[in-house]
Amino acid sequence: MRIVPITLPTPFYIGPVNVYLVAEDPPTLIDTGPKTKEAIEALRDGVRRAGFRVADIRRIVLTHAHEDHCGLARSLRDEAKDAEVLIHDWETGHRVGRLEHEEHRVLLERAGVPQQEIETMRKLYEHMRLYADSFDDHEYSSLEDEAELEFETGALRAIHTPGHTPGSCSFIREADRTVIAGDCVLKRITPNPILSPDPIDRSQRFRSLAEYLVSLARLRTFAPTLVHGGHGEPVHDYEELFNRYLRAIRERQAQVISLLPKTGATAWDVSRAMFPDTDDVHRFLAVSEAVAHLDLAHSERKIALEVSGVKEVYRQITAN
Ligand SMILES: [Zn+2]
Ligand SMILES: [Zn+2]
Repeated sequence: MRIVPITLPTPFYIGPVNVYLVAEDPPTLIDTGPKTKEAIEALRDGVRRAGFRVADIRRIVLTHAHEDHCGLARSLRDEAKDAEVLIHDWETGHRVGRLEHEEHRVLLERAGVPQQEIETMRKLYEHMRLYADSFDDHEYSSLEDEAELEFETGALRAIHTPGHTPGSCSFIREADRTVIAGDCVLKRITPNPILSPDPIDRSQRFRSLAEYLVSLARLRTFAPTLVHGGHGEPVHDYEELFNRYLRAIRERQAQVISLLPKTGATAWDVSRAMFPDTDDVHRFLAVSEAVAHLDLAHSERKIALEVSGVKEVYRQITAN
């Protein structure tokens, strides 16, 4: 089974995105790139170099529903005469174009984000939506954990690896333990667990970092020899990366706890203290990161949490 990486430009800060063509029957594309002229041209080029046409694609499989990964899914499906689109059900909140406004607002208010900032974030994300088409429920098939994607000469197994988003999936070729991991595993950066509603109870927030740690450990059980990420170069030493991620997460947690004043602070306060110079979409990513670490520290009983009005306020636990 030939897996062909194709790198596409994106208009986003993260830089180029990697998508993967499984170049045998049925021709399958894992992730699509954003909906831009530059990305579709680069994709056509890459698919052609592998000896195929976009119209030949029979299956479009999405690691998750961020614009840089899923943006072209609908136009490719149309061009490829109704190729099947597969994505995990837990991506629904993102599938329709990031979070629904109302759910988004509630989560941000709870994290202590000021109204004016929420409004700015909403506008930014409305702009992001232009880079992806949304899908209706009947337009995709749900990708189940452990689902086998069969090919002429082998199979890829879907592994649900929530964390970065609730429905993030990775794909493993067990014959040589190669993994395609989307944004779950990135060589140079620790992926950001994005603030999301819990797919089972949308009034709650998804415990992204706790889930992410489980996903990293689950991937480790396969002892991957090669991991293709959604951005940047492939990872050849997963064990080293796994330990590096764990260290980075523990260090960040210690920093987050140390930033909590005696009087308590919201996730927004912590994110501003951690990343004082961020603006635009990075403020959303920063508050996502703060919430993720505070949630994990709280579930490990390292900090206290109380609700003050609509806001959640975290405090250090003082010994007395
Ligand atoms: Zn992503
Ligand atoms: Zn990405």
